[in-house]
Amino acid sequence: MVMVVECSEGHHLSALLLPTWLGYTTKFVSQCPFTPCCSWGICTRCGEKVVGEGTGCTAMEQVYHIKCFVCIVCHLQLQGKPFYALDSKPYCEDCYLNTLEKCCVCTKPILDRILRATGKPYHPQCFTCVVCNKSLDGIPFTVDASNQIHCIDDFHKKFAPRCTVCKEPIMPEPGKDETVRVVALDRSFHVNCYKCEDCGLVLSSEAEGRGCYPLDGHVLCKSCNARRVQAITSKVTTDL
Ligand SMILES: [Zn+2]
Ligand SMILES: [Zn+2]
Ligand SMILES: [Zn+2]
Ligand SMILES: [Zn+2]
Ligand SMILES: [Zn+2]
Ligand SMILES: [Zn+2]
Repeated sequence: MVMVVECSEGHHLSALLLPTWLGYTTKFVSQCPFTPCCSWGICTRCGEKVVGEGTGCTAMEQVYHIKCFVCIVCHLQLQGKPFYALDSKPYCEDCYLNTLEKCCVCTKPILDRILRATGKPYHPQCFTCVVCNKSLDGIPFTVDASNQIHCIDDFHKKFAPRCTVCKEPIMPEPGKDETVRVVALDRSFHVNCYKCEDCGLVLSSEAEGRGCYPLDGHVLCKSCNARRVQAITSKVTTDL
């Protein structure tokens, strides 16, 4: 955004407005090019009168000696140079950028919106999932034990327990927060993968007649368990 500022005699000063986290900070790109352009007044910095050609300048609607118009941090002379105004005080470009918070990923100053997550500042475009690099600006995310940012999907894929049968991670159903899984024989199962190994009946400890009757670490329904037990028994009998 370019804003045109006029000095008291109507000469144009152009200025560039940059949005920052402090609201709008004005980056002035030039000052009145006419010398002397105005009836100078009292220098804002030293309090002395500004007289004579080429000795004064105006900035932020205030009058300065050119030698007094300096960056308040490093004292660089700013007349004719780009500068930033913070609380009506002039900063050179470098010192201004130093006042800004730095992104914890790319370490560059954040000129625009700060995204704050887990107490740290980020550029919105730097706040991404460590696995898929998708931007998580405005999207639910989670962190692992070492504070690494993950999208919800990748977090579950990485840390969710794996199903013994299909080897896939056991994740919450879409739209749900909680994961439902079956834990049996010290192993994890998807609810639908918890089946009798012989007949494929989906087992459940809560449903009548569909309980699990494990045999030698095999997941079996009641009747398949009985059949296997019978087979072993008859084999033993025949062997005798
Ligand atoms: Zn002065
Ligand atoms: Zn400076
Ligand atoms: Zn960044
Ligand atoms: Zn991801
Ligand atoms: Zn499974
Ligand atoms: Zn069965």
